[in-house]
Amino acid sequence: MPLIVQKYGGSSVATIDKIKSIAQKVCKLHATGVDVVLVVSAMGKTTDGLIELAYSIAARPAAREMDMLCATGELVSASLMAVALQDIGCPAIAFSGVQAGMNTTAEHMRARIDKIDVRRLNAEIKEGKVVVVAGFQGIDQKGDITTLGRGGSDTSAVAIAIALKADECRIFTDVDGIYTADPHIVEEAVCLKEINYPEMLEMATYGAKVMHARAVELGGIYNMPILVANSHKDVPGTLIHKGANMESRNKATGITSTINIAKVTVVGVPDRPGVSAKLFGVLAAKGISVDTIVQNSGLDGTTDLSFTVARNEAEEALEIIRDVAKELGAKDIYVDKSLGEVSLIGSGMQNTPGYASTMFNALAERNININLITTSEIRITCIIDETAVKEAVKVLHKAFELENK
Ligand code: ASP
Ligand code: MG
Repeated sequence: MPLIVQKYGGSSVATIDKIKSIAQKVCKLHATGVDVVLVVSAMGKTTDGLIELAYSIAARPAAREMDMLCATGELVSASLMAVALQDIGCPAIAFSGVQAGMNTTAEHMRARIDKIDVRRLNAEIKEGKVVVVAGFQGIDQKGDITTLGRGGSDTSAVAIAIALKADECRIFTDVDGIYTADPHIVEEAVCLKEINYPEMLEMATYGAKVMHARAVELGGIYNMPILVANSHKDVPGTLIHKGANMESRNKATGITSTINIAKVTVVGVPDRPGVSAKLFGVLAAKGISVDTIVQNSGLDGTTDLSFTVARNEAEEALEIIRDVAKELGAKDIYVDKSLGEVSLIGSGMQNTPGYASTMFNALAERNININLITTSEIRITCIIDETAVKEAVKVLHKAFELENK
């Protein structure tokens, strides 16, 4: 019998009515002889609310207790989903991450999955039950509850699909699938029929909010097809799989953007070995993740070093490197917190000239200044002023004719 893992995000299970309507659909699918495992997120904005509660007590609540607290959100939605299924005569059973055998590392609030012991899940599936698993959570070796980081239920779902050798993992959300650009920004944006893993990974990492990047990465490693679709509409959705885009070689696939970037510039550091190692070493030690790094060598034996970080980490980054920069003899250090980035993504760009120049031309025509540029084989990212981000997305969508996808 085919086995499908379906994941429902917070917005899809935000109300009792929505949970009931999903239960109806799942019940019908199950009745056709398909084995179904559901992975659910917490209802609506529950997780935000739980986090707020903890911060209303303490400035720095312990990560271990945050995990225990946040894990309750998914326990509620998983139990209610099973109750809704049982109520309409569909055999169902709800599991916490622990009960589902989700073993993780001990890094609270950003744990990684070690292995999933699927024996109990398999036994219940064999008995004909729809298994509902609380997403986002697991257990470490000590027996403490962990979570996979915000948005982590996507990763739970894909990992469970892989462990169960499911035929497909379906991620249900409140949009129709993966678009060529954010349809809130570009009216003509098109919902893609399919996309390959590397492109989707770049899109998720560089601003597409639909899927957790780690879930895409996992799917790619284990070649698990992932369908992203609308939970409350009957639309085909976007299939993320290996063979995608055979016919769209030499074409861009999508434009993504974010507006939460800060650039830190260290001015006039001596140009000698070890400077970058020292600066980025202290940042790494404090867990600050640095994205783009650019170094310009001056003629006077000094260099200016710029790097970008998430805007909410900018002040912390500045604090961390201030002393080190001074020690190294830097002249000045400043931060620009008003930046955003726009990325052009497509595996058709690989080994094909012209994409970068078309991109830069399109931005130049609109007088949009580029601060920094980074690339991968299938992505070009320009860091620009945040106020220009929406316009940049629009002009690039047009320049690469993505409305014809
Ligand atoms: N409920 C968790 C969050 O809001 C996990 C998820 O939704 O995927 O981050
Ligand atoms: Mg989510």
